[in-house]
Amino acid sequence: MESQDLKKAGLKVTLPRMKILELLENSDDRHLSAETIYRQLLEGGEEIGLATVYRVLTQFEQAGLVNRHHFEGNQAVFELERGRHHDHIICVNCGRVDEFMDSVIEERQKAIAEKFGYTIKDHALTLYGECNKPDCPNREKA
Ligand SMILES: [Zn+2]
Ligand SMILES: [Zn+2]
Repeated sequence: MESQDLKKAGLKVTLPRMKILELLENSDDRHLSAETIYRQLLEGGEEIGLATVYRVLTQFEQAGLVNRHHFEGNQAVFELERGRHHDHIICVNCGRVDEFMDSVIEERQKAIAEKFGYTIKDHALTLYGECNKPDCPNREKA
């Protein structure tokens, strides 16, 4: 299944590409830095260099397989292009990333663009906050 995705994107099937795509497809966390991907591959017993991980991710990005996000205060993270638009909310303390899609916000953006005489081609909305999750490292311990 993964090798077909590579061919569809016009990329030759190589072991590093297969391994990285597999990891992106199977990870619970949908937004991963190159370092995290590298570490997880090493932990899984793969012999791969960080430079290779970066190179493959850049190739994936150019082929439209993944999106690269530069969230403020974080290293770039990569996520598989799943063809479903969504926006992001980020914890400034722990770097957690959640996804949302709100049709009211989407419609408002269209209306605002129209008002200014634009047709929206693309947009990225990122909210920055402090998460309330108990395991956030900067959360005050009770
Ligand atoms: Zn996302
Ligand atoms: Zn947090």
